Amino acid sequence: MPKTNAIMAFAQENGADLVGIAPVDRFAGAPPGHKPEDLLPGARSVVAMAKRIPLAIVKKIPGPYYEKFGYHDLNAHLRELSYKVAVFLEDQGYEALPLDPSIADQAREVEILQEEPEPKVRILGDFSHRHAIVAAGLGEIGASCMVVVPKFGPRIRPVSVITTASLEPSPQPAGENPVKICQPEACGYQCSKNCPAEALPGDGTVDHFKCRSYRNPAGYTLEYFKKIADSKKSRGPSSIGSGGSAPPPVGQTCGICIRVCPIGLSL
Ligand code: SF4
Ligand code: SF4
Repeated sequence: MPKTNAIMAFAQENGADLVGIAPVDRFAGAPPGHKPEDLLPGARSVVAMAKRIPLAIVKKIPGPYYEKFGYHDLNAHLRELSYKVAVFLEDQGYEALPLDPSIADQAREVEILQEEPEPKVRILGDFSHRHAIVAAGLGEIGASCMVVVPKFGPRIRPVSVITTASLEPSPQPAGENPVKICQPEACGYQCSKNCPAEALPGDGTVDHFKCRSYRNPAGYTLEYFKKIADSKKSRGPSSIGSGGSAPPPVGQTCGICIRVCPIGLSL
C-alpha cells in the first residue's frame, strides 16, 4: 500500500487546506456514469482536496475580488494541485486521474426537467467534488446545497484526484446522529433568506436555473440549456472534452450564499 500520509502531506505542501481519502465504495450512491470507476477503470480511492477562499475576499462578495481571486484564480490553483498530486501518485506506480475543479457547461449533463410555468434544469458534472469532500469525512452538504466544513463553512473550493492506489480511508463522522455542521434553525436559514434569486429552498437543493439566470439573465436562458441537452444526446455518454453547440455566457459569480453563512467565520 502506498504511504497515505506521504500523499496527504504532499497535497498540503502544494497548497491544499483540506485533504482526505475516500475509498470508491463510499460513492455507491453516485449516479451511473459518475462513479470513480466510471472515470478511471480500476479506481480504488479518491483524494479529496480543497483550498479556502480568504475571508477578506468573502467579505467583498459579490464583486470582482471574488470573481477573480475566489473563483477563476482559485480554479487555476486547484488544477495545478490536482495535476501535481496525480503525477506524484503516478511516480509511485499508480494511475491517477486529475479532475478539473469546474468544467464548462458544454461538458456537463444537462436535463430539462420542466419548461412551464418556470424552467427547471438539472446540471451534472462528471464527478461531484462536493460529495468527495463528504465521502472523505471532511464536511457535509449544507442546506444551501454547498459543501460545508467546520473550519471554513462553505468558503472553500474542492477538487479531486481518482487513483488506482488503495489508500487508507479517512475517518467519517461516527455514530448515528453526528453533530451537524450546518444548523439551519440556529442561523435562521441565512443562505435561503438572502439568496436574491430565491434559488435555495433550504432542503439541501439548489434551483440551477434560478441561480444561473439571476447571474446572467441574457446568457443562461432556457434555449441555452436546451441546446446543451440536445447536443449531449447526439454526443453519447462520455462528456469530457466534448464540444457543444451553445457558446458559454460570460460567467458572473454571485456567492451571497457563501458570504452570509456563519459557520467558522472567525479566524
Ligand atoms: S450564488 Fe447567489 S443566486 Fe446562486 S444560490 Fe447562491 S445566493 Fe442564490
Ligand atoms: S447559512 Fe445556515 S442554513 Fe445555510 S449552509 Fe450556512 S449554516 Fe446552513
